[in-house]
This record gives sequence, C-alpha cells and structure tokens, in this order.
Amino acid sequence: MEYHNNKEFALKMDKEDSLASYRYQFYFPKHTDGKESIYFCGNSLGLQPKTTKTYIEAVLDDWKYLGVKGHFEGENPFATYHEDLGKKMAAIVGAKHKEVVAMNSLTVNLHLMMVTFYRPEGERRKIVIEKNAFPSDQYAVKSQLEFHGYDPDETLIEVEPRKGEDLLRTEDITDLIAREGNEIALVLLSGLNYYTGQAYDMESITKAGHAMGCQVGFDLAHGAGNLKLSLHDWGVDFAVWCTYKYMNSGPGGIAGCFVHSDHIKRKDLPRFTGWWGNKKETRFLMDDTFDPIEGAEGWQMSNETVLSMAALKASLDIFDQVGMDKLIEKSRKLTGYLEFLIDGLRSDRIQVITPKDPEARGAQLSIRVLKSDKSLFEAISNKGVIADWREPDVIRIAPAPLYNSFTDVFRFVEILKELVR
Ligand SMILES: *Cc1c(COP(=O)(O)O)cnc(C)c1O
Repeated sequence: MEYHNNKEFALKMDKEDSLASYRYQFYFPKHTDGKESIYFCGNSLGLQPKTTKTYIEAVLDDWKYLGVKGHFEGENPFATYHEDLGKKMAAIVGAKHKEVVAMNSLTVNLHLMMVTFYRPEGERRKIVIEKNAFPSDQYAVKSQLEFHGYDPDETLIEVEPRKGEDLLRTEDITDLIAREGNEIALVLLSGLNYYTGQAYDMESITKAGHAMGCQVGFDLAHGAGNLKLSLHDWGVDFAVWCTYKYMNSGPGGIAGCFVHSDHIKRKDLPRFTGWWGNKKETRFLMDDTFDPIEGAEGWQMSNETVLSMAALKASLDIFDQVGMDKLIEKSRKLTGYLEFLIDGLRSDRIQVITPKDPEARGAQLSIRVLKSDKSLFEAISNKGVIADWREPDVIRIAPAPLYNSFTDVFRFVEILKELVR
C-alpha cells in the first residue's frame, strides 16, 4: 500500500472506502468548540450507534405491553434474546454458534472459566500470564491461585519481553511452555496487549500449551471485533471478552464467552451453575438436578439483562452487515496510514512501540512519549482529539475501522505535528 502525506490523499481514500458511510451510523462526541471530536478511543469505549436507543426502546415496549409474557412473546422474546447475540459474536471470533454466549461481564466470565479450566493437580498447578497484564486479570488470577490454597509468588509465571525490548517474542512464550509445561495448568494471555497493542500468535501459543498438556485461554478484551480470530480452529479452550470496546455495546455492556466444542459435553469439568445453564426444555420443570445445555450457554447462571443485550444487538447487527474480513481490510489500511504519517514526523519525542507487522497488531498504535511527558497528551486533548494516556508513558490511538476515516487520521497527525515540532 502506497500512502501520501496530504489531505487530498486522505479524502481520496475515504471516497474509495466501501465502509465510509458507516461513520454516519454513530454519534461522535463534540469538542468544546462545538465541532465533532476526533475519536480514537474505540479500544476503551466504542461509540454509540444511532440505532441503540431504538433497540432498547423495543425491549421497553415489549415489557410495557406484554409484561411477563415478553419472555416468550413479541418479536425478540426475552428468554431467547441472547441466542442471536451468540450467533453474531461467534462469526466475529471464528467460532461455532454453540461455543459462544453473551453473559455477565469480562472478569466474572474469566473467573467462571477458571473454575472450569484451572484444575491444578500434583505438580501441575502454575498459571502463565503476561507481566503487566491488565490489572483485573492479575487480580482474578492471583485470587484463583489463593482460592486453591497456593502462594502466587510460587505459582504465577509472568512472561516478559527481553531486556531492552517492549514486545513479547512468540518463541519466548512457547519455549517457556515447552520448558516448564509439566508444572503449568493454565496459560492465560490477552489476545492483544492493551498497553503495547501487540497481538499474540494465539494459534502457536495454543499448540505449544496443548503439546504440554496445559489448558489455554485468552482474554480478548482488545481482540474481539478487532482481530481476525479462529478460536475454534486454533483449538483454544476458552476465551472471554467485553463488548464495550470495539463492539460498541455501551459502558459496562454485557460480555462474551467462548468454550470450545471439545469441552461442552464433558461431565468431568466442574462449573458454577445456575438455572439459566440448564436445558431449556426442562428449565421450568423446577427439577433439582442440573442438566446443562450442551454449549457455552450451559455456563450461564442467571437470566440476563435484556436491556443491556439490546444495546449490544444494535452494534452486532452492524458488524453482521459488514463482516470481519472487510473490517480488517480497512483497519489495516487505516492503521498503516497512521503509522506512515507518524513515521514521517521524524520526531525524537515520540516512538511507536506497537509491532510494525500488520498481523501482529490491530486498530491501535501505542505512542511512547519520551520522559513520560503527559503534557503532549493534554495538548492533543485540548485540540479536540479523544485518545487515552496509559501510565507510565503511552498515548493510545485507536482508529476504529467502523467509524474512523482516513481524514480523521490525517487531521490528528497534523495536530501532533504542530506539537512535537
Ligand atoms: C478492558 C479490560 C478488562 C475489563 O474488565 P471488565 O470485567 O469488563 O471490567 C479486563 N481485562 C482486559 C485485558 C481489558 O482490556
């Protein structure tokens, strides 16, 4: 792809972009000057689709006019509302429908999956995570180790980049697993590191884990709706993700969970259960023995918050129209353009730490600011750019292919240019 550093080129790219019109299906927050902000925070909270309100109102109306009958009547009955979400998210993460369910929140799902898939036995009891993993993941994993009576200092392995490097090398992860695999019960990495923007080679890591008899799971908070994923074919044991980042379900939106079909009929795997995980045909017979649904739905506990699912559905219906292939094709061009323009600044105040290889990243570049100078972030914010600062020294810029344009990217780098000169 050949890029050019001028506004006409950015405009031309937008004109040729078959997804350009989707931008107008989202609300952009306004800056203090009354103009639309340049929004690059879809990796933290995706923008609101203009249809979200209608979807939520439809649920409110069913409740209003049908009352309890809304569970089984109306266009989208409450009791089965989640099924369409599972189907559409399965397409996004490369899974079979029955392997995916919308439920709870990310960290809750992570705990539920560890109940099932972290089964320490004998010498095999360690968990591998990334050093500096997202705090919620660290807390969750450490608390699980402690719950099983272990000291995290002895049972938690944190993989880290080599000295002087920012990114993890796949071979360092797979070598570690090959070396210490007999003591590892679970490998739990993010699919895409929230700080560096590095996407991991999930297929190789899964293979390495399974070769040593370990379970392998991924936290796809930044991967779902962003990366090309094939969870089923890669043989990943489980995965969890939130939907309020790239999937635009709104603050605290309902999360996603994947359980590989190899595991869904296993009776030997323990789980924390609730009535919503019981087979639908017998759920209301109020029997006292649990008979799980054969699928990720079997891990559901409660009847879910349908209002929150409605917000997710509004966005998933857009994803369904677009498809991940087209989305990723645009995403690579858009992030590639951002990288090209930043490189062109030749500034020694900033440095992109995200991998250059498009296969090893998604819609995010992490810009390290020299001397942890946060004033640069404050300055771009004052100019109407919505991005975020992650301690100690990174500005994250995420051009979301569903609603960001090449002109957004061009305008942002023009602002940056003035400031880093
Ligand atoms: C955003 C994010 C979370 C958030 O967890 P919630 O349970 O949804 O609050 C967890 N882990 C990672 C890696 C994240 O990026």
